[in-house]
This record gives sequence, structure tokens and C-alpha cells, in this order.
Amino acid sequence: MSEDVRRVIRSPRGSELSCQGWQQEAAFRMLHNNLDPEVAEHPDKLVVYGGTGKAARDWPSFDAIARTLQGLKQDETLLVQSGRPVGVMRTHEWAPRVLIANSNLVPDWANWEEFRRLEAAGLTMYGQMTAGSWIYIGTQGILQGTYETFAAVAAKRFGGTLAGTITLTAGLGGMGGAQPMAVTMNDGVAICVECDPSRIARRIEHRYLDVQARDLDDALRLAVEARDARRPLSIGLLGNAAEVLPRLLAMDAPIDIVTDQTSAHDPLAYLPLGMDVDDMRAEADKDPAAFTLRAREAMATHVEAMVGFLDRGAEVFDYGNSIRGEALLAGYARAFDFPGFVPAYIRPLFCEGKGPFRWAALSGDPRDIAATDRAILDLFPENESLARWIKLAGERVAFQGLPARICWLGYGERDKAGLRFNDMVASGELRAPLVIGRDHLDCGSVASPYRETEAMLDGSDAIADWPLLNAMVNVSSGASWVSIHHGGGVGIGRSIHAGQVSVADGTALAAQKLERVLTNDPGMGVIRHVDAGYDRASEIAAERDVVIPMAGG
Ligand code: NAD
Repeated sequence: MSEDVRRVIRSPRGSELSCQGWQQEAAFRMLHNNLDPEVAEHPDKLVVYGGTGKAARDWPSFDAIARTLQGLKQDETLLVQSGRPVGVMRTHEWAPRVLIANSNLVPDWANWEEFRRLEAAGLTMYGQMTAGSWIYIGTQGILQGTYETFAAVAAKRFGGTLAGTITLTAGLGGMGGAQPMAVTMNDGVAICVECDPSRIARRIEHRYLDVQARDLDDALRLAVEARDARRPLSIGLLGNAAEVLPRLLAMDAPIDIVTDQTSAHDPLAYLPLGMDVDDMRAEADKDPAAFTLRAREAMATHVEAMVGFLDRGAEVFDYGNSIRGEALLAGYARAFDFPGFVPAYIRPLFCEGKGPFRWAALSGDPRDIAATDRAILDLFPENESLARWIKLAGERVAFQGLPARICWLGYGERDKAGLRFNDMVASGELRAPLVIGRDHLDCGSVASPYRETEAMLDGSDAIADWPLLNAMVNVSSGASWVSIHHGGGVGIGRSIHAGQVSVADGTALAAQKLERVLTNDPGMGVIRHVDAGYDRASEIAAERDVVIPMAGG
């Protein structure tokens, strides 16, 4: 089938299998779910989120993966190379049913130009993090991490709440769309600049964004009114961030916090100045090199305005999209004056093996997620912020595709949750099995010097052995599918990361696998941070019996 034929993909629901077992079925459903129009940003192009992050290389590959999963036996493993099924091998029951390698390039060749050449030749695909590894769950996936980040900003600078503050950001795409709700969940006001009107409409429709301003003056008036009343409000503003931010700075707008989630990691997905959003795709295709230069120039202007706000005392941070790196490439020398969000707010959580744990109900029934929400509250009664999140998520998150939930859990917690969920499937309390996975943006699964491993204590930012060990540990521990990707989040040449997804199908075998995977996977985060010299990680390792041969030197 050709790329331009529109197809509507949706995961099957219910307890009937179309594959030979629940592990294959889960992969089959999650592949389809990633391309559900409610979930994917551009499903007709197989693009799930994050610029051009795809679920399969092309439609023939998608069909072949689906067909192969349906015939795959319990002792077989499907190999996927950058979104294309390339082989089925006889393995064993404990082995993953699918092994995925996406977008990987030999380091000297790892740049966008070479990647695009290979992509155009049909030889590779950009897998982002959870797009090509089939565990994207819509904007909720990033919502809790974003909520936690803004909560950490509030704790650091604003007395524990964002009430009475205005946050300025840009990008309302698949991930960036979580920002307005994360700010209002922390009781703040957000102005979110977005150049594509359809993205603003989508966020309003999904209740992530409250209102759209008529223009910049209207946005500022709405924001100040809400701030003064200490009323949470999120405001979408149509425009190019590289134009709007300098204007707001020139107006001396009372902005307290500035960040950004445009698709800056991919210069062909960032709108240059003076270009209409409708012409963007054609312009990028026509002359990618010229487009890249123009996009980088605009990013430099954008980042310069962010530094301007920093100089005026605002809390400013990079939200993991590489915009500082791109601005530096365009010659803006102060690009790295503000920090990335991981060293600023998230690393202490990584030291505890905490990260974006998530699960989806293969039944398709929201009541299954409501039941797991109750189980989480019951399992971790002492964790107040977790309880607040689960309650707010239950009230405010509209499901996209298969009902799903995310919450950040650490070492010693994820396995408890996984085993409880498996018991709930076994007892019939849930209507069908659950898949349990996580973002690649996790404590021990990624090397990304502009984001997750920026400014490591021992300078080991670019060491990429850790995500490879992480993938091998998950393969060895019984995960249902495991992936190794390159370039997710921050772009080609800048990251290597791994993912795992495991199925709770209620069987005793699944319990054994889940216990191992959900202990060892976050365990990688603890040992990675002990190795880098973080005291908090050493305390956790000692308290929770993580075995580290050379701990202490
Ligand atoms: P996306 O491609 O779905 O959305 C990006 C949005 O930016 C689009 O809606 C686009 O119209 C808009 N945009 C592009 N140029 C613009 C400009 N000049 N002015 C205003 N708007 C502009 O991407 P996404 O999934 O939302 O991810 C956004 C970025 O955040 C990516 O770089 C991604 O890697 C990064 N990210 C960060 C985290 C994190 O936890 N911090 C997680 C995932 C992704």
C-alpha cells in the first residue's frame, strides 16, 4: 500500500486473542495503538510524535509486522530493524517476542545529513523513544514527568506552588502539549506559543489547554488577570516562538518561568522566521540544508530571548529538545547559560531508580485503569505526591487510544506494582492483561549528554555502555519486547537509549518475569548513578540491597 493512502488504525480491544499468546497480542495491539488517530500526531505518515518519530518504516512494513506477530509462536522472536521486520528466529519462552533496533548509526556517520540520506533511500527510520518501540500512550505519557518538573520548579523557587506565577513556553505537540496541564495542575498560569493552529485546537479538544488567546496582548492580559487572582489558567497563543519571545521580552512581560518544547531536536521540524507553517514541509523537502540554516538562526533568536528572561531573574531551563545545542551551532555563544531540566530537577529521582513507569489496559476498558489507580494508592499510601497525581490524572486526563496510566515509581516499587497488576489479571478483577513499560527517558536506560546525562558528577555524560547493558539486562530478565534506539529526544548523534515492555497476563510465568524485569530495569538507574558518584544513589543501593561489586571505590 502506498504512503499516501489514508488508513485508520486502531488497536483491537477485549479479551479475545488474534495472535498465539498475550505477549505477541500485546505487541500487536500496542503497535496499532501507537497509530490510533487519537494517539499519533500524523498517523497517515506513520508518525507518532516527536517530529518524525515513527512506529514502522512504511505501510508494507507495518502490515508485515502485524502479520508476523499474528503467526509468531511462544518460542520465537521477531527482529525489527528500523521499523521493518527482517527475521523470525527460534528462541525460547523467556526470550522477548520482539527485539527492536531503531535509527542506530556508527558514530562517525551519526548526523542528520547521513541519516536523512539513508532514510530517503528507504534503509532506516527515526524511532524517537516510544514511537518505534510501541509504548507511546499519548500526551499523558509525558504529563506526569512534566507535572513533577514544574512541581520541582515550584519547590525550588516559588514556595511549593506555581500559584501567582506565569510560565512562558512553546510547542503544543505530542509531548509539549502536556505543558499547559502540568502548569495548571501546579496552580500556575501558562502562555504556550504554537505555530500550528491544529495543535492548539487538538490540545483544547483533549482538555490539556484551557483557552486560545486572540493575540499577544490578549494572552498577556488573560495571564496577568489569572495570575493576580491566583487562578490556574493555560493560554494557547498562535505564533512563531522565535518572534513572540523577543517581543514579550521587549515589552518587559512579567514572566517568571521560561522553557520550550518545540521540535528543536530536528531542525527540519522547527519553523524558521518569516515562513508560513503551511509551507514548512514543502520548504524543508525542497532544500533541507537551507531550511536547517534558517531554522537554526530562528532558534538562536529564540534562545537569546530565553537568556534575556534569565538575565531578568526568571527561572529558565531547557526541556530536553536540544534547542541550546542548535542555537550554539548557529553561533549564539550564551546558549548554555541556562541548565537542562534533568540536572536541575530530575537527577535526584533517577538516583532512586525513579522514572516514567506506565501501563495500558489491553481490554480497552477504562474501568481497568480505575482499578489499577486504586491498587497504586493502596500499595503506596505514604507517597502523598503520587496520590495527588493519581487523583488529578483520574479527574483530568482524557485517555487517547487504549486507556493507560503513568506514574513515576522507583527501585523496589515497580516490581510491587507489576506483581499486583498480574494478580489482578489472574483473579479476573481486570478484563484483560496489561502491558507495563516505560519511556526510554528513564534513570538507567539512556546516554544523552544534552538531556538525561547532562552534567553527570563524574563527567561520564557521553558514555553509552549503560543503555546497552540496560537492554541486555531486560532481554535476560524476561521482558516481552526490548528496543535499542539512537537519536531520540535530542536528535541524531546525540543519544542512545533502550526500552522494555512486559506483559502482565496473569500467569505464574509472567509473575516471575515481571519480578525480575521490574527490579533489574530500575536497578540499572541506581547502579549507573552510584557509579557516577551520587550519594543518594549509594544510600538507596545500601538500603534496598542493590549489589554493586565496587561500591565505595
Ligand atoms: P512535536 O513535533 O509533536 O511538536 C512540536 C511542536 O512545535 C509542533 O506542534 C510544532 O508546530 C511546534 N513548533 C515548531 N516550530 C515552532 C516555532 N518556531 N514556534 C512555535 N511552535 C513551533 O514534538 P513533541 O513530541 O511535542 O516534542 C517536542 C520536543 O520536546 C522534542 O524535541 C522532543 O524530543 C522533546 N521532548 C522532551 C521531553 C522531555 O521530557 N523533556 C520528552 C519528550 C520529548
